[in-house]
Amino acid sequence: MNKEIHQLSSDVVDKIAAGEVVERPAHLLKELIENSLDAGADQIEVDIDEGGKSLKVTDNGKGVRSEELPLVFARHATSKIDQSDDLWNLSTFGFRGEAIASISSVSRLKFLSLRQGENQAYRIDCEFGKLSPVTETSLSQGTQVQVEELFSNIPARLKFLKSDSAEVTQIKNVLKAMALQYPMVDWKVRLKGKLLFFWKKTDSLLERAQAVLETKNLFSHQKDFDGYKVNVVFSDPATVVKVSRQIWLFVQNRWVQDKTLQAAVMEAYRSLLMHGQYPICYVSLQCPPDEVDVNIHPTKSQVKFMDSKKAFRAVHYCLREAIEQAPWLGRKSKNQDTFAPIQEVTAAPLEFQQKDFQRTQFQQKRRWEPAPSATNPSMMDLRRAAQEGFEGAVVDRPTGSDHASSVPEAYWSSLQVIGQVDLTYIVAQAKDRLLLVDQ
Ligand code: ADP
Ligand code: MG
Repeated sequence: MNKEIHQLSSDVVDKIAAGEVVERPAHLLKELIENSLDAGADQIEVDIDEGGKSLKVTDNGKGVRSEELPLVFARHATSKIDQSDDLWNLSTFGFRGEAIASISSVSRLKFLSLRQGENQAYRIDCEFGKLSPVTETSLSQGTQVQVEELFSNIPARLKFLKSDSAEVTQIKNVLKAMALQYPMVDWKVRLKGKLLFFWKKTDSLLERAQAVLETKNLFSHQKDFDGYKVNVVFSDPATVVKVSRQIWLFVQNRWVQDKTLQAAVMEAYRSLLMHGQYPICYVSLQCPPDEVDVNIHPTKSQVKFMDSKKAFRAVHYCLREAIEQAPWLGRKSKNQDTFAPIQEVTAAPLEFQQKDFQRTQFQQKRRWEPAPSATNPSMMDLRRAAQEGFEGAVVDRPTGSDHASSVPEAYWSSLQVIGQVDLTYIVAQAKDRLLLVDQ
């Protein structure tokens, strides 16, 4: 009688595992880059083509010994851990020893390496799981891994890939995350042979974040919290986006998706953002290794905290403390040229401003809550009033038109300018009301 239950062949096992580890080209690229970082590289070059189905990563890391090259492709073969105890003290990205085994079962892979201190580089190829012998090659340093025809032996998997541009978008996000976390690495990225990103190495996290996230309106802060170390780079509350994708979270140097930490970020910005607005924010949390499990997901994109409330508090506390100092106010006044200064401001007595503002705040009470325990609450509240009040009592729009251009000049010249908020809003008084004008 034929057996109904049988052991799967290693080829099928590899293909199943490939589905977990490398669901999309971006995951694959992440694995290759993590290997380069684990090898101590500080120069990484990436070439992308065919919507990520063709990828090449070149690094200047320590390389692999020629006699160990075939082991790179063996499942559960790794240079990074020895015993299960090591899982709780990981200092490397890799430890499963299955990325290259999985990737090489679903692509044509070329692995070239020059072991540090040696003169001769070697190469080994693997075509859809079939290894070739090790041969001599030329390579000036480190390791180069080239993947081509990804998934072409599994048409069903190919069908699940999105359009080339959608896959490339995902790849760009992975690259940005890696570059954010590794400012001390030179990154050069080419798409179809054309330079896409070039991030020069820097020891300033803020500088790297400004380059990668493409905005100068960022500020940084660092805090130790009960054994946890938190680093944040964050935007001012006016530099916002409509999606949460620009909140970049890292735990133990790993880019993660984590609802708890995301909630901590949003809570820190609470009362400063309108519904549907998200900040641009980088958060890196380092915990004692035995307080977080990074081995709960095949792509290592999620972590499990022993005490998630503590993780929440650490991030919230650090970010809130930084936000309450409103560092953007200082930068703007130091840097007047970049923000149009207001002309001819007629200063009104302080007493009047506060009295009037308090009344406005009172009218608005049901629409917004004041920022809790802000260092500079009146400024913060006014910022919020400015943002939320445009449809409310603080905003005056001359009847009959929504367009500033069609407002008669006489109307504007009848206003008495009281002052300016956050170098963004002009506070003015009309006959019977207070106005905030967005410059
Ligand atoms: P893991 O990273 O979990 O160990 P991988 O399958 O990703 O498993 O890699 C297997 C082994 O191949 C690594 O442990 C490492 O020794 C070696 N290796 C892979 N890529 C590189 C690289 N770019 N530079 C140096 N060694 C590498
Ligand atoms: Mg690896």
